[in-house]
Amino acid sequence: MKRVQIIGSGFSSLSSACYLAQAGFEVDVFEKNADLGGRARQMSVEGFKFDMGPSWYWMPDVFEKFFADFDKQPSDYYQLERISPSYKVYFGDKETIEVPSSLEELYTLFEKEEKGSADQLKIFLDKARYHYDVAINTIVYKPGKSPFELVTLDTVKNAYQFVTNIRAEVRKRFKSDKLRQILEFPVLFLGAKPQDTPAFYSFMNYADLVLGTWYPIGGMYKIVEAMVKLAKELGVQFHTNAKVNSISTENAEAHGLFVNDKFHSSDVVLSGADYHHTESLLPIKERRYSDAYWNSRTFAPSSLLFYLGFNKKIKGLEHHNLFFDADFDKHAEEIYDKTVWPTNPLFYANFPSMTDHTIAPEGTETGFLLLPLAPGLEDSELMREKYFDLMMDRIKDHTGEDLRTSIVYKKSFCVNDFKEDYNSYKGNAYGMANTLKQTAFLRPGIKSSKVKSLYFTGQLTVPGPGVPPALISGKIAAEQIIKDQIRKHSYAISI
Ligand SMILES: Cc1cc2nc3c(=O)[nH]c(=O)nc-3n(C[C@H](O)[C@H](O)[C@H](O)COP(=O)(O)OP(=O)(O)OC[C@H]3O[C@@H](n4cnc5c(N)ncnc54)[C@H](O)[C@@H]3O)c2cc1C
Repeated sequence: MKRVQIIGSGFSSLSSACYLAQAGFEVDVFEKNADLGGRARQMSVEGFKFDMGPSWYWMPDVFEKFFADFDKQPSDYYQLERISPSYKVYFGDKETIEVPSSLEELYTLFEKEEKGSADQLKIFLDKARYHYDVAINTIVYKPGKSPFELVTLDTVKNAYQFVTNIRAEVRKRFKSDKLRQILEFPVLFLGAKPQDTPAFYSFMNYADLVLGTWYPIGGMYKIVEAMVKLAKELGVQFHTNAKVNSISTENAEAHGLFVNDKFHSSDVVLSGADYHHTESLLPIKERRYSDAYWNSRTFAPSSLLFYLGFNKKIKGLEHHNLFFDADFDKHAEEIYDKTVWPTNPLFYANFPSMTDHTIAPEGTETGFLLLPLAPGLEDSELMREKYFDLMMDRIKDHTGEDLRTSIVYKKSFCVNDFKEDYNSYKGNAYGMANTLKQTAFLRPGIKSSKVKSLYFTGQLTVPGPGVPPALISGKIAAEQIIKDQIRKHSYAISI
């Protein structure tokens, strides 16, 4: 039985671990932190549960596909609920829009906001559905090894959608600033500005407005628990508080890991830790990408987060709230071009206990605030508090309520914590952005070109940031390892 050692226990690593164990490999997962799940860890304090990372469960079909590969389904592990309204958006003129989960209601809402926009939305979503089908069926499950993977009848027919950007596509159809903001929002998950994201990614709008926003009762961590349970059933061994210090290479072949300075031998090493960090575990001559390379990439933002417990139920807000009551372009410029703390940022507020009474004591609320920031910013307590007050003031402006007075638990998390807790490059929150120049074969490769038997998975390689892509990335990396090992084995037999 071949031994695979996996660095990290984020979604991509968990996904790979399941596929590799199913294929008969002996799999060990080494996680530096005390808890499994990577950026999707959950923190429990004083009866409040906080999902520390992802909160939007999109693309339920990708989760179904993952579990189906093991003859399981999500409902074997957790109970999903569709959120309605999907989310609420707060605009600068104090107006709000609740984005409904029903398509019919959505068309009515659009038409009310801008005459003729319902028909435009139907055309836009029809195209977005087509892009979604092409992406899921022919692109995102590819290993990103060659440009030819992108060449299919469908992609050639749609080549223009890779050249033009999502902003141009949205703006040519819709005039209302509010509708434009709603339609430009989903690509923010891909980590880049809408004007730098190919229009093909409108499939994220299909995921948002048609497939919907879902929530697993108990929190997003239920998905981590489900995957860990499945992995253990398949025989995977988990090691926590197990920091990998270096990858041992002999004649440039990965043959083990030093974990907490103790050597563990293996046949294959797969890393789901941030790619840049993983390469730093190798001697310099065995790294494929230089510091200059990483520095020239567009990274997804970092974030300033506040995990908050409240001593009462909160009114006037929803489960998901987007504060788009500021200049988006200015905030984006401050993240991507100027790399400075933002002047007047957009932010997101999440209160999952409005849907789920199991994650907060009765009569209370649990939630977090998230403000996207440029990776690499100088992080300090003073700056964190300044922006905490800014977000609280803005919420008060809209709801008339000062939430500060009902906070009974508060913890912040920012650039320095992303670096410290996850070995994240410049403290990025969700990996490398999906721009035109950083899509598919143009992303860092899943297989090392310098060290044999060393592979990569996760949000810095293919297909990109987000939980569904992490599940897919884990599958792609596992398939490559299985293929390479079969080839190696049959060669050994033939000689
Ligand atoms: C605040 C936030 C909000 C998000 N919101 C959403 C959302 O709503 N929906 C969505 O789909 N996605 C969201 N994302 C993105 C999503 O969470 C990530 O893309 C995904 O979880 C990344 O998984 P991964 O396996 O690539 O990496 P990670 O989860 O980062 O896993 C890497 C693991 O490697 C470990 N590690 C690092 N170095 C070592 C070492 N030397 N030794 C041992 N272990 C090591 C780390 O501790 C970590 O556990 C969000 C992310 C963040 C941070």
